[in-house]
Amino acid sequence: MLKLKDPSLFVERALIGGVWTHAAGGATVTVDDPATGAALGTVPDCGADDTARAIEAAAEAFRSWRLTTAAERARLLERWHDLLLENADDLALIMTSEQGKPLAEARGEIGYGASFIKWFAEEARRGYGMTIPAPTADRRIVVNKEPVGVAAVITPWNFPNAMITRKCAPALAAGCTVVIKPSEFTPYSALALGVLAERAGIPAGVINIVTGMPKAIGAALTSSPDVRKVSFTGSTAVGSLLMAQCAPTVKRLSLELGGNAPFIVFDDADLDAAVEAAIVSKFRNGGQTCVCANRLLVQAGVYDAFAEKLAARVAAMRVGPGVEEGVQIGPMINAAAVGKIAAHVEDALAHGARNITPRDALPAGPLYVAPMVLTGATTAMRLASEETFGPVAPLFRFETEAEAIAIANATPYGLAAYFFTENLHRAWRVGEALEFGMVGLNTGSVSMEVAPFGGIKQSGLGREGGPTGMDEYLETKAFHLGGL
Ligand code: ADP
Repeated sequence: MLKLKDPSLFVERALIGGVWTHAAGGATVTVDDPATGAALGTVPDCGADDTARAIEAAAEAFRSWRLTTAAERARLLERWHDLLLENADDLALIMTSEQGKPLAEARGEIGYGASFIKWFAEEARRGYGMTIPAPTADRRIVVNKEPVGVAAVITPWNFPNAMITRKCAPALAAGCTVVIKPSEFTPYSALALGVLAERAGIPAGVINIVTGMPKAIGAALTSSPDVRKVSFTGSTAVGSLLMAQCAPTVKRLSLELGGNAPFIVFDDADLDAAVEAAIVSKFRNGGQTCVCANRLLVQAGVYDAFAEKLAARVAAMRVGPGVEEGVQIGPMINAAAVGKIAAHVEDALAHGARNITPRDALPAGPLYVAPMVLTGATTAMRLASEETFGPVAPLFRFETEAEAIAIANATPYGLAAYFFTENLHRAWRVGEALEFGMVGLNTGSVSMEVAPFGGIKQSGLGREGGPTGMDEYLETKAFHLGGL
């Protein structure tokens, strides 16, 4: 049992139309603590029927929710935000228990997740339309913004709280209602958000949560004509599948998919700042984020110095259960993740890479992976073209700026990129040449509620957060008044 201050935040039911419920057929899925492998509990394995009921509840709630004022929606969102912060310790413990990340990072994510609710509470009042001068004297043209309708929200396990708030807060602010399908690995963080939304006074049916295995739920959500929008964060493979499944009913889509972020260190970089940023960008959440630096490209003149400084930091990183004080790298999410990381490392070593941060021992348990720095990485290795999603920092050597840009862009992904230089001319040149939705210059972090987050190429569609985040949940209606 988790030691929560408020045990009622740990719920093992789905939320449909304001009722906490089992799956119609009674099926459940077990959720494990990745640090111990022990079962935390079970949640309903919802099927097509349960999902249909959740969509119906959301459609019903939409009728009245869309008519509330922006100020009313803002007030409810503000309360939800406050409740997240008031319950941050419990929410963090629930998250670490099902996801594995260190408690300090989990607490950070609760603040980050809450920041989206606050931001969109403020944005709720800014669903501005416009008037357009008409081509004839007897006509007026008014452009209104209206909520899209029921939105399906499908989220991954790496940020079990923030990926939900980043979608639900703008949806609710716009006047939409939602059906959330959280990752089967991390449903408890989602359900706790549901409890707090209820406590905040958000009406029944506005937020519905269907837990369980994804296929049946995904098929029901994407095929329903009552679902007008699908917002998904996860792998490119699943995103592209959902896009195909949404084609027959032509739904609006927001997709935040995989990345393969380059992290470029030029000879003229502030090396200490670059090392600090690499630690943040590469090793946050054990390297399991879609904006994690996947390829560290280092110019020949500083390659050895950078490798040495980074290795010193990585060798000192503490690996262990996320609930232990001082741990920086928790367990990976599951055996498949560990297997992929091991395969990438093995392949790299076989192709001539060298692990310069060898470690004697890891804590007991199958899901721990040693953080490491690999020198001698080349584009022939799997980790150059695939997302490793683990605490492995491969260092590629390059000679010229043009070469770095070419390597950085040679990927079907285009989510985040980072580069380090003290040269103003190069800063602009490289910033404009990188084909990514987000570019960090002299920083390893590009995720915050005030700025648009999203990718180009096969990294996705649309932008979350920022001043345009609510547009993803709004339709434009041109209202023509004739014969005046
Ligand atoms: P990750 O690599 O982050 O695990 P996935 O794309 O597998 O990414 O998962 C992200 C989310 O998509 C999870 O909630 C997962 O359950 C869901 N998902 C996976 N397969 C499908 C599917 N066929 N239909 C709908 N959702 C799916």
